[in-house]
Parts: sequence; structure tokens; C-alpha cells
Amino acid sequence: MITPVLPTYARADLEFEKGEGSYLLTASGERYLDFGAGIAVNVLGHANPGLVAALNDQAQKVWHTSNIYRIPGQERLARRLVEATFADTVFFTNSGGEALECAIKMARKYHAASGHPERYELITMEGAFHGRTLATIAAGGQKKYLEGFGPVTPGFPQVPFDDLKALKEAIGPATAGVLIEPIQGEGGIRPLPYGDLRQIREICDEAGILLVLDEVQTGVGRTGKLFAHELASIAPDIMAIAKALGGGFPVGACLATEEAAKGMTAGTHGSTFGGNPLAMAVANAVLDQVLADGFIEHVNELGRTLRQKLARLADEHPDIIEGVRGEGLMLGIKCKVPNTDLVAAARSEHLLVVGAGDNTVRLLPPLNIGDEEVEEAIDKLSKACTALDGRAGEKREGAA
Ligand SMILES: *Cc1c(COP(=O)(O)O)cnc(C)c1O
Repeated sequence: MITPVLPTYARADLEFEKGEGSYLLTASGERYLDFGAGIAVNVLGHANPGLVAALNDQAQKVWHTSNIYRIPGQERLARRLVEATFADTVFFTNSGGEALECAIKMARKYHAASGHPERYELITMEGAFHGRTLATIAAGGQKKYLEGFGPVTPGFPQVPFDDLKALKEAIGPATAGVLIEPIQGEGGIRPLPYGDLRQIREICDEAGILLVLDEVQTGVGRTGKLFAHELASIAPDIMAIAKALGGGFPVGACLATEEAAKGMTAGTHGSTFGGNPLAMAVANAVLDQVLADGFIEHVNELGRTLRQKLARLADEHPDIIEGVRGEGLMLGIKCKVPNTDLVAAARSEHLLVVGAGDNTVRLLPPLNIGDEEVEEAIDKLSKACTALDGRAGEKREGAA
């Protein structure tokens, strides 16, 4: 019999009653160190006092008014995002997929408004993940997400990962732009080299097409920069963000230059809940902490420490770990055993991590963790690897 909750997720049999900083607690009081952070969402940990206060405070005033009126929280958040980035303007959404939908529509509309409605295609890369809406599963191009859902939404030709020659060749009269993640998240923490990102920017400029970045997972401090494209010293024309922006409250945004946004006039796009006062209050409170002096530097420092310790762990467990990659506090462990085994072994040690494509395990802790949490995570991962080493040893003996 079908469960009352539509069974689209393969859930772990684990539930949490509350969160405290970097920890999640079960009803019986068991503590789990959360290095998944709701998949790169809880950047300031759980029950962060600043975020709780902002949400409570706004909840006493007004929850929702609709975008038929001005929303001061939106104006403030947009101004702050514009000041901190390449962007001149921002559209607010409730999710990453919805931010991508806005980005895709905007890229198409830009060319239509420039007299080229035939330019509607966004070239994407294999291994991409852009969401679960009809357009974004087409953009991601993954068979397992497309199968059985009818004709694939047209307009998303795909090239192999990081193949710039194929990318150039794919550009034609129908091309509107290139849509990529600077570091593929779901794909397995696969970074595009900085040099290649710079080349992609040049390729777009030469072809007169737009560079659309999906920074839904990489954005808001995760990689040790406010946004990952800053690592390569480039700027996109359009960028979708979400996950970390609300620190756990659902909110996303599509940022753009004035030029790229020129077609998006009154009536062309909208959302009932997008940018609602509750979401704006929390997102502004997230920025209060993320934009504060030293915060991003802290992410860099902790990221370096975590990475060094992971590299040592990889040396100690060569049968389990193939390598470590990523930026800042967005790190991937490429596994030699099934990644699900390492996720499960870590969970047995009360450490929460997240699986991803290419047989990797993602570490995406809250960005305000300290050295103690890094130490504890490494200790737990080390025990998890040792347990898996033991099992691999038993298997070998059994075979012999
Ligand atoms: C999570 C994610 C999305 C989709 O965001 P939702 O909020 O689940 O719609 C899109 N792109 C990337 C890179 C993501 O990591």
C-alpha cells in the first residue's frame, strides 16, 4: 500500500526532533554531527539565534502580502546582493529549480528582446543537476530523471563535462547561452578548472551568448568565496542561487546584469510566494552573518584544515578513499567502496554526510563550524573507514 507521503525519496530510517548548531538530535537525545547541512542549506547550523530572532520578529508583523505590493525586505536583500556581486537586479523564488526556471526564461527573453527569438537553447554539461522541474530535468539531461515524463523540454543540448572543443562546436544560430555549475554538486563535487571557466566566459562573449551559472549549491560562501565564479575571477550574466540563501528557510533568487534582464518587464514573470516577507527576513539575517568581516576567511581556513586532514585519511585508507576534491567547505571524497557504504558507516558513527554522483561522498558542513567539529568529523570518518577496511579484509579472506 502506498504511504501517505508520496514515496519518491529513499529515506534513511532516522528522524530528528531538534537541531543545535552543527548537531541534530533524535527524540531519544542521540546527537549526530551534521556535515550534510540539509544538502548545503543550513550554512549557519541549526537553530541559529540570529535567524530564529529574525523569523520570530517578522512572524509577529506580517507573513505574506503578495508581489502586488512593495516588499521592503526584498528591496533590502536585492540591494545587498547587487552590492556584493556582478548583478544589477534580482528576482526572488522559493527554490533552486524555480530560480533556474527564471534564469532560463530570462536568457531566452534576452535574445527575443534583442530581435533573436530563435536563440533559445542553453548548452549544458554532462553530469549536471539543475532541479526537478520539466525544464530543469531537460537541462540536467540525466536519463533517470527524464524517463517516463513525456517529451523532453526542448532547448538543452548537452556536451561532455569540461570539453571546451565540443562546447564551441555546439554553439549555433539557436544558442542563447551556456548553463553550468562552477563545481558540479550532485554530479560528485566536480570542479571546472578556473582556466576553463575563464575560457567559457570568453567563448560566450565572442559568440554573443549568455553565461548562466547555477550556483544553487556553490553559492553564499560555501566555496570560500561569496560565489564560486569569483574563484576564477569571472562574472556570469545570469546566476541562480538558493540552498544556503535562507539558511534552512525556503528561498532562492535569480541574479542578473541589467543587460541580461532587459526583456523581463512587468508581467513577464512572477511567483505568489517568491520573496515573501518571512523568507526575506531570514535571508537578510543570513547575509548579516555571511557578509560579516572574517566569515568567508573562516570558511577558507576551516576548508583548508578539513581538506588536509581528509588527504591524510585517504593515505591511511587507500582501499576506501581514492581522492578528495572541491573548494572551501564543499568537499567530495571519491570512494573506492560504494559511496553508500561510507555514508552508512559514517552514520553509524553519528556523522551525517551526503552521497553524490561519480561514487563520491559530500561533506557540506555548516560554514560556522569550528576546529573541534572538524576534528570530530575526521575522527568519526576515520572510525567509519576502519570499519569498512575490516569488512574489506574479511571479504578478501573469505575469497581466499
Ligand atoms: C539543489 C540544486 C538545484 C535544485 O534546487 P531545488 O531547491 O531542489 O529546486 C539546482 N541546481 C543545483 C546545482 C543544486 O544543487
